[in-house]
Amino acid sequence: MPRSGPPEARYYDKAMDGTVSCRLCHHRCRILPGSSGACRVRRNDGGRLVLPFYGLASALSVDPIEKKPLYHFLPGSSSYSIGYVGCNLHCPFCQNYSISQSTEAHLTPVNPAMLVQEARTAGCPSIAHTYSEPVVHAEFVEACMKAARAAGLANVLVTNGCAAPDAAVSLLSLCDAVNIDLKSWDEAFYRSELGGDLETVKAFIAEAFRSGVHVEATTLVIPGKNDETSHIDGIAGFLAALSPDIPLHVSSYRPMYRYTIPATPAATIHRLVKAARRRLRYVYAGNIAGERSITECRSCGAVLVARHVYAVDAGGLSGSRCSSCGSESPIINRCK
Ligand code: SF4
Ligand code: SF4
Repeated sequence: MPRSGPPEARYYDKAMDGTVSCRLCHHRCRILPGSSGACRVRRNDGGRLVLPFYGLASALSVDPIEKKPLYHFLPGSSSYSIGYVGCNLHCPFCQNYSISQSTEAHLTPVNPAMLVQEARTAGCPSIAHTYSEPVVHAEFVEACMKAARAAGLANVLVTNGCAAPDAAVSLLSLCDAVNIDLKSWDEAFYRSELGGDLETVKAFIAEAFRSGVHVEATTLVIPGKNDETSHIDGIAGFLAALSPDIPLHVSSYRPMYRYTIPATPAATIHRLVKAARRRLRYVYAGNIAGERSITECRSCGAVLVARHVYAVDAGGLSGSRCSSCGSESPIINRCK
């Protein structure tokens, strides 16, 4: 007889005493019977690690792909976006803390076929796993990504990048585009403030790039925490060593959740964008009210894509080429 109840997780080991050890992320939680791991969504049920939140969405929305943010992937398109509950980090500035730090949200049962159908109905060429942390739902995310691939839709992952190497390889093999938070260049800040691990994030980004996934990175700049030029220099240098064409979004923070630090001044973002541009070709300021963002052709200087909030004009592109001079651009403008 098949067992009923939540599906069993991958990436864990059982011990003789009934505890389980989850291997999905750097925390490697040892979980007692009846308890959950640090992400709240992987539970020890009688010596098995199970997924009580499998196929439960906290949010379903049609978003501009620029909101992920992804600026060099299908510009101007919409992405069918799904959020979950739980996270393996506990950022004190989390903008989605009500779903990342709690499992009490209203949840909607979904399945991969339903998501594909809804994405198609909404005219979205991609499905994005986003809002909270999709990695802690790796099993369901992979099931959705397989269904989306089979249907010719692109897969987008928006993540903190804190996944163990084997889980990262498996997830990334199904992704077309990822935006990965690279929150700081300070290992201690990652560990003590966020519960994260800088080396794990760096390895995730490197694996995404190595496996041919379109990669963009985001750094949320918080005054007094990661706003020194040396931080962005480290981040930009790391990305540039993979490719100077990796877009970096340098975004302004606003007070949220447990942080009351005042919002990041626009001048700070502009200083850091300028510093990052010494190493990277495409660095964008994020969350600055009223600012227009453009991507120019590196051959002739024509504007390829202009963005203002979520209004996007990609009229400078002909496919992935510059419509003025015909040069290849770094922008992916059609699904595989
Ligand atoms: S995914 Fe969750 S349960 Fe597994 S190690 Fe990470 S925080 Fe712990
Ligand atoms: S990793 Fe993202 S979702 Fe998780 S707590 Fe941090 S900001 Fe929130």
